[in-house]
Amino acid sequence: MPQLPNRNEIDPKYRWDLSHIFPSEEAWEAAFQAVNQRVAEFAALNGHVADDPRRAIRLYFEIQDELMPVADYAFLSREGDNGDPKAQALFERVMGLMVAAGSAASFLEPELLALDESVLREIQADPAMADYDEYIRTLLRQKPHTLSKAEERLLASLGEVTGAPDNIYSMLTTVDLHFEDMELPDGTRQPLTDGTWDAFRESPDREIRRQSFEKIMGGYGAFGTTISGTYSASVKYDCAVAAARHFADALAARMEPLEIPREVYTNLIDVMHESLPILQDYLRLRKQLLGVDELHMYDLYCPLVPDFTMELPYEKAFDLVLEGLKPMGEDYLAKLREARDGGWIDVFPAQGKSSGAFSSGDLRHVHPYVLLNHTDTLDSAFTIAHELGHSMHSFFSNSAQPLPKADYSLFVAEVASTCNEAVMLRHLLKAFPEPKAQAYLLNHFLEQFRTTCFRQTMFAEFELIAHEMAANGEPLTRETLSEAYYKLNQTYYGDSCVVDEWIANEWMRIPHFYRSFYVYVYATGLCAAVSLSDRILTEGEDAVRDYRKFLSAGCSVPPIDALKLAGIDMSSPEPLRKAMEVFRETLEAFKKAVAQC
Ligand SMILES: [Zn+2]
Repeated sequence: MPQLPNRNEIDPKYRWDLSHIFPSEEAWEAAFQAVNQRVAEFAALNGHVADDPRRAIRLYFEIQDELMPVADYAFLSREGDNGDPKAQALFERVMGLMVAAGSAASFLEPELLALDESVLREIQADPAMADYDEYIRTLLRQKPHTLSKAEERLLASLGEVTGAPDNIYSMLTTVDLHFEDMELPDGTRQPLTDGTWDAFRESPDREIRRQSFEKIMGGYGAFGTTISGTYSASVKYDCAVAAARHFADALAARMEPLEIPREVYTNLIDVMHESLPILQDYLRLRKQLLGVDELHMYDLYCPLVPDFTMELPYEKAFDLVLEGLKPMGEDYLAKLREARDGGWIDVFPAQGKSSGAFSSGDLRHVHPYVLLNHTDTLDSAFTIAHELGHSMHSFFSNSAQPLPKADYSLFVAEVASTCNEAVMLRHLLKAFPEPKAQAYLLNHFLEQFRTTCFRQTMFAEFELIAHEMAANGEPLTRETLSEAYYKLNQTYYGDSCVVDEWIANEWMRIPHFYRSFYVYVYATGLCAAVSLSDRILTEGEDAVRDYRKFLSAGCSVPPIDALKLAGIDMSSPEPLRKAMEVFRETLEAFKKAVAQC
């Protein structure tokens, strides 16, 4: 592989401009010292929030507002070049400051919750505190689930122990767990890791796919008893805390504080079940296109349209994004151009730069920043649309809302990004009519449905089963967990695919399970985005106007209501069914396209 360039060898117009946050390191230093002082000022309120709760709340948010630029400047400097000792030093100092700010603030909510409910309601209704009314409202919702001071202190003091299952799992899987080397047809051996597996499981050589699958699953299986122990402890902790905090069960403890109706979770599972015939139809087509007599679990990832590539240098890719996102409105496009030309984006890979891509949207007084690692592929073009979707969501929410209401909920975090991708994809399908391009693009979309809607919902269902087993006093062992997971695979893949025995170990390699009831948002997010993109493309201006209300809502209303502003109700199964209808249409179009290839 050619050596990556040094960061300063890259044309500045392809680098983000952090001088928009602070013009110099001296300016950063001054801001750092100022926040430091404010944190000390806040720490002195410990035990005294009741004296002047309004002042404590204001001060808390003011510190957040001042801390964000100081933190992001250091964070982004390091992301741009992890090897730069200066950036490293800034980052370490900021981490120290964040810890100090976090511990200084840890008394605020418990002391507010200890106030009489009438005091909180008074603050909530006070016009001078209107910016904080949602904050107080969500705090009040916690009140029935808050324990006595002594109980809360005890729980907090156990933090390190209660986080142990996740920590132990993570040490085991990132440090101690190794996989057998891959033995390649030319006689060479190559190391196999979770990271290198992607390339092996997509290999056109079926033997390589099978071998890598068995070695990965076998590697986890070798520690299966230990991983069952860590996961069982994590699930039982969820159940115990849910009961202690007077929730009906662990799922309620996760959903209710975020104001997400339980039906969102159960509808998702139900609609994916009713749509399994479409998934299985797709898998039967996959089997036919791969020309195998049996489709195995290790055949699911290799590309179906392998010899199609699109050469998309950054400028061309960005033009394609602008062209594709035209339906989002002219002012939306103007912001995208501003992002491109205004130093928001760090485009190319460089030595020491972090891999992957992200949008960082907390800088209310500056603009979002985007990290890319552009490689001239179609995937990279989709990444531009995706990350700028996050940026636009942050930008419009930050512009329309005061700080306490600007930060959008995790439940909708992937909606704006995936909606951009879906709108752009529909444009590309029109722009590239040749059958091979059609097949490639449609397959890209189908794979998104398979891996994001169905696979993540299967994970969500597994979590629900594990927590129900624990609540019913059933043992959570390697055997019971793997059996439950294997059965789910049989349900989802049915007779369209051979459900290999090794797949029973797959749940062991999913780190998200240690943050329970979270993965479903990937599936609901994609379904919401597909439904929204459909509305935008068919209804035009009205839909775009409603969509902008959603982008601008931040957390000023609960996330379900924010999506209702855009015209979709995620507490009903309708948007999920709409997305599955698009999945079915996409499959039909794909069948036609491959027939012409
Ligand atoms: Zn994203």
